[in-house]
Amino acid sequence: MMKTGKQMKIVIIGPPGAGKGTQAKIISERLGLFHISTGDIFRKAIKDQTPVGVEAKKYIDKGALVPDEITAGIIKDRIAYKDCDEGYILDGFPRTIGQARALDNILADKGETIDYVINISLDEDTLIKRMGGRRICDSCGALYHIDDYPPKKDGECDKCGAALSQREDDKEDTIRRRLTVYKEQTLPIISYYKDKGIVVEVLVDKDNDVKELVTEVIFKAMGVS
Ligand code: AMP
Repeated sequence: MMKTGKQMKIVIIGPPGAGKGTQAKIISERLGLFHISTGDIFRKAIKDQTPVGVEAKKYIDKGALVPDEITAGIIKDRIAYKDCDEGYILDGFPRTIGQARALDNILADKGETIDYVINISLDEDTLIKRMGGRRICDSCGALYHIDDYPPKKDGECDKCGAALSQREDDKEDTIRRRLTVYKEQTLPIISYYKDKGIVVEVLVDKDNDVKELVTEVIFKAMGVS
């Protein structure tokens, strides 16, 4: 039986810069799912200088992955909260086979499984251009792009007026390193999920490189209206 949006558990995977965060937010709002982004959790922990944040920063700043034990532990704790009872979308987790297995074990303990894995693919030049132009508000976290979605006033957030900056891990050398890490460590999990028959493939190219169109491709592929 088709689940309603409210009971679904979805994973969204894609290379850095593919827009998975943007799509995850839209999908979570449309289907009433809780949006969990491990990248956001780490950025907040870094800002608050918690022990996890201090540890995670060492890896994130150089474009490496935070070790599986830390990341899987964060997810295990987060999905145990009541707000996840109605379903959720995991954005940026799992990113390794180890994490995918850990997630399956965490869910199996509750008799649950992942329903869909949305795999967003995009060519590398576009990714580098997208990420290199990305700017984030230091205060409220709003996202901008110097070419595609510039702030009204250079270097200043439209929403709260605070300064915009480039994430350390969005600088070109780090972007290249993140793409290599993605190909080596994250792509293999697509085959892991393909074997389970739950992968929804979404190819972003010049014909649909607009966030609304990508959202429609995702919903159509999932068979959700
Ligand atoms: P994101 O915003 O999803 O691109 O995440 C930013 C950075 O946080 C990544 O480049 C990693 O260093 C770290 N990170 C986020 N999610 C994970 C994960 N599932 N496993 C390991 N590291 C992660």
